[in-house]
Amino acid sequence: MQIYRKPPVLPPVESAFFKLPDTLLMVLDPAWTVQLVSDAWCQILGWRQEAMRWRPFVELAHQDDQADTIEKLASLNGDLTTVRFSCRFRRHDGGYIGLTWNVSHDKASGLLYASAHETAVKLPDKGASLPEVYVDGLTGLPNRTLFVDRLEHTLLRTRRRKDMRFAVLYCGLDRFKVINHSLGNRLGDLLLVSVANLLRGTTRPTDMVARLGGDEFGLLLEDIQDASSPVRVVQRIQEMLYLPFPLHEHEVFSTASFGITISSEDYAEPDDMIRDANMAMMRAKAQGGGSYVVFNKGMHDEAVRRLELEMDLRKALERQQFQAYYQPIMSLHNGRLAGFEALVRWAHPEKGLIPPADFIPVAEEIGLIVPLGQWMLNEACRQMREWQLRYPRRPALTISVNLSARQLLRSELTREVRRTLRETGLSPRHLKLEITESAMMEDAERAIELLHKLKRQRIRLLLDDFGTGYSSLSYLHRLPIDTLKVDRSFIMNVHDNDADKGFVETIVKLARQLDRDVICEGVELVEQERILKEMGVEYGQGFLYSRPVAANEAEMLIITDQARNAHPA
Ligand code: C2E
Ligand code: MG
Ligand code: MG
Repeated sequence: MQIYRKPPVLPPVESAFFKLPDTLLMVLDPAWTVQLVSDAWCQILGWRQEAMRWRPFVELAHQDDQADTIEKLASLNGDLTTVRFSCRFRRHDGGYIGLTWNVSHDKASGLLYASAHETAVKLPDKGASLPEVYVDGLTGLPNRTLFVDRLEHTLLRTRRRKDMRFAVLYCGLDRFKVINHSLGNRLGDLLLVSVANLLRGTTRPTDMVARLGGDEFGLLLEDIQDASSPVRVVQRIQEMLYLPFPLHEHEVFSTASFGITISSEDYAEPDDMIRDANMAMMRAKAQGGGSYVVFNKGMHDEAVRRLELEMDLRKALERQQFQAYYQPIMSLHNGRLAGFEALVRWAHPEKGLIPPADFIPVAEEIGLIVPLGQWMLNEACRQMREWQLRYPRRPALTISVNLSARQLLRSELTREVRRTLRETGLSPRHLKLEITESAMMEDAERAIELLHKLKRQRIRLLLDDFGTGYSSLSYLHRLPIDTLKVDRSFIMNVHDNDADKGFVETIVKLARQLDRDVICEGVELVEQERILKEMGVEYGQGFLYSRPVAANEAEMLIITDQARNAHPA
């Protein structure tokens, strides 16, 4: 099985990684017989791979520790999947070495994965023993505490030696969660161990490689010549990462993102350097992974701006700075106003009216979208009910409200929608909820279930920005959607681009077959409207009719529409 395959862009690099993960690791079969041993253990214990294979694990423990070892391993057969214990382990030369083991049991295969580190590891420079609190149990690398400590010393040293420069690299595995999810924690652990080993193997002995937590590693490169040195190190590591890790019977491909900070007089605290390297790594991840970003001050300023936006945004709801704007939706059959789409605006006290694109993604990230979305739903329904009562007509106007992915994942949504309709007095038939394809895809099965629930409440559902997402036509018929809302990008050129015109035509035909109707957004030109009418598109929305406007202006549109209908031209 292979997951996440990178195209083999580079020629094969000579590598030690076609061997077992070169790390402190053993795999035992269900009878506790050693089946696989990593090179690192062979080095530490002095045994050759072949000599260790087929030996009972327990036999390798010191005689006095064997009973305890058996007891610990035996406890793994029940629900317990991991044990940790220490024992003395036999070296080839007849001596013993103190080891702390982490053994986990893979229920599916019956295999045991045993990783260990020495209970007292020697520090190369000082010769002092390294207490366990400084070692990462899985990979045997120094942990974050030790990394920070070493970085602090390095910072102090550079204060005396002004010419000395060093770099902090923050390394995060891309899509590690996916690997963990699909292949299981055990292989996830193996991958971390292999990557740890790769990092150690591709850096100088004087550089420090540490596990900072989860799937993140820190590298401290001391005494670098110039800013390009850490970049070269990263490139070397990334070249190695093009090769698959053979983990058990799987070949796992992984890429990593790197953030780099170079020492400067501005840095007094280790945490500041790590923070900035982390920020740069996040940037690299946002670019799609498998790359690196060198931190610069601009990034910091941007992060500060973003933080301010976040803080302002959190306060905006209680300070009533959000406003609902309304954009008309026109029936292309009779040219009349059919309803409105409610679109949120943020009236910022200093920055003026902020469009949703600038704050909705942040609101989604910090979870504010949930109360904000609820507020919009309530406001839009209340407003529409008020207009319906003031301007009765047949059929009554509808209101469309956008739902974000975060809202779609909440099981309370249906209850909240029902309550809003009850409190505002709007009929569910006049509410349309707009859902984007990408929001659906976050958890398609769950979203579909929720949509069915909404549908049972007789609320109408729209698939927004249709054509831009991933949705395949194959599952469209499973969605309880009433309307496909074709994205603006296809309408923009519908009058002078045959491909776009063909696309819209196809959607209209498809909608016919599925018994759905079609709205086209972004209608700006009379020519576009004419083509859409010819195709039989039911509804249009766009600047041709009106931009999104505040409630009082929207009300004027209703009045104009009524007047025109009372005295048709
Ligand atoms: P959307 O739901 O696809 O809304 C349509 C967007 O297209 C609106 O942008 C609208 O102003 C714009 N638009 C409509 N006709 C035209 C046209 O003819 N030409 C051009 N150039 N643009 C047109 P807006 O208001 O900036 O909203 C952007 C997006 O923000 C919305 O896209 C929606 O995804 C999101 N959004 C807005 N309000 C809310 C809300 O209350 N909740 C959620 N979750 N998302 C919202
Ligand atoms: Mg929309
Ligand atoms: Mg849209």
